[in-house]
Amino acid sequence: MRVVMIAPPGAGKGTQGGLIAAHFGIPHVATGELLRDHVTQRTDLGRSIEGHLDRGELVPDDVMMDIVRMAFLDAKAGSGGYVLDGAPRTMDQARAGYAIARELGMLADVALHLRADDHELTRRLLARADLEHRSDDTERVIRKRLKVYHRTTHPIVAWYAQRGILVSVDAMRPAEQVSRDILAALDARRPLVGDVRE
Ligand code: AMP
Repeated sequence: MRVVMIAPPGAGKGTQGGLIAAHFGIPHVATGELLRDHVTQRTDLGRSIEGHLDRGELVPDDVMMDIVRMAFLDAKAGSGGYVLDGAPRTMDQARAGYAIARELGMLADVALHLRADDHELTRRLLARADLEHRSDDTERVIRKRLKVYHRTTHPIVAWYAQRGILVSVDAMRPAEQVSRDILAALDARRPLVGDVRE
């Protein structure tokens, strides 16, 4: 099973991505986590992107595509499945990711979209801020991240719908209900896995 996730911040990508990965026995590739690890370890990449993360801006597409290519290569060397949480976030990333995945024989079977409104997303992110202390979970940066999502990331959803691989789930409900719907939808698609049109 190969899944890409498109969701606004606070919709539960990380939680649901982890559950999908455990259910199908596939790696959970969370791009935000990978980037934050670089920042924590003070790598060259980490130093160059720290400001983007703190301001709630997207890191450059070319940086992202190197990370996505590596993730696809690792997944290919393993079971061949993946759940990619956090990319693509721009139309250019979607197109470039598609080209890389096609070249490697790793095209996504499902694009999973999580829906929630900004009021609920802001409430959840502010609640998380007290627990996780992420530098981008402040009210000002949350507003910016939601704006970036609506303007730049959300349009990709229609592209996946056209490709016939979109699964859209209401993420306003408690996490267990959301995951039940997601796993049921993905299980229903299991027989189709590998049939994705180019
Ligand atoms: P997340 O953990 O998914 O909320 O991502 C946290 C931050 O990492 C985002 O606000 C961006 O600054 C950066 N980021 C994660 N994934 C991407 C991506 N695909 N393209 C650009 N920036 C990203």
